[in-house]
Amino acid sequence: MKKISLSKTPIFLEFLKRFIKYKNYEDLFEFDMEKELFITGYCKCGQKDCATVYLKRIKEWEEKDHIVNLASTTKGLVLLHIEENGLMEFEALEYTKYPYKNEIKKVFKWKKSTLTPKDKEILDNYFRDLAPEKLNCITIDDDKVTSTKCDCISI
Ligand SMILES: [Zn+2]
Repeated sequence: MKKISLSKTPIFLEFLKRFIKYKNYEDLFEFDMEKELFITGYCKCGQKDCATVYLKRIKEWEEKDHIVNLASTTKGLVLLHIEENGLMEFEALEYTKYPYKNEIKKVFKWKKSTLTPKDKEILDNYFRDLAPEKLNCITIDDDKVTSTKCDCISI
């Protein structure tokens, strides 16, 4: 299994830090991410709106933390899966411009990545007006499929 340090993906690391702050996930990440957390792969489904990343932490999360944290935002749907054996899936969907997507691919081709002022600007723009959004609820009624914004889950 390939293990890439988050220090090699400064854009993703910065994104993750800001995302953790945005969603108040600090309790789950009270450790040195650059030392303990590694990227092991990314989703290769080829869909433009997917930027899912697979990670592994050296230590385990506590059993109570083994959950899926859901974040539905105006710029994508993120499901943060904390699993056994330190595995973590950062499932990022429904948005075509996750700022770190190209970086991950690049680094897996052994190319270097740096956090340039331009990247910082892109990250600033992503988080500046990021807001929660209701999930799409899909109802299937006979042959009719309807998709509506749903109240059943609030985030
Ligand atoms: Zn995918």
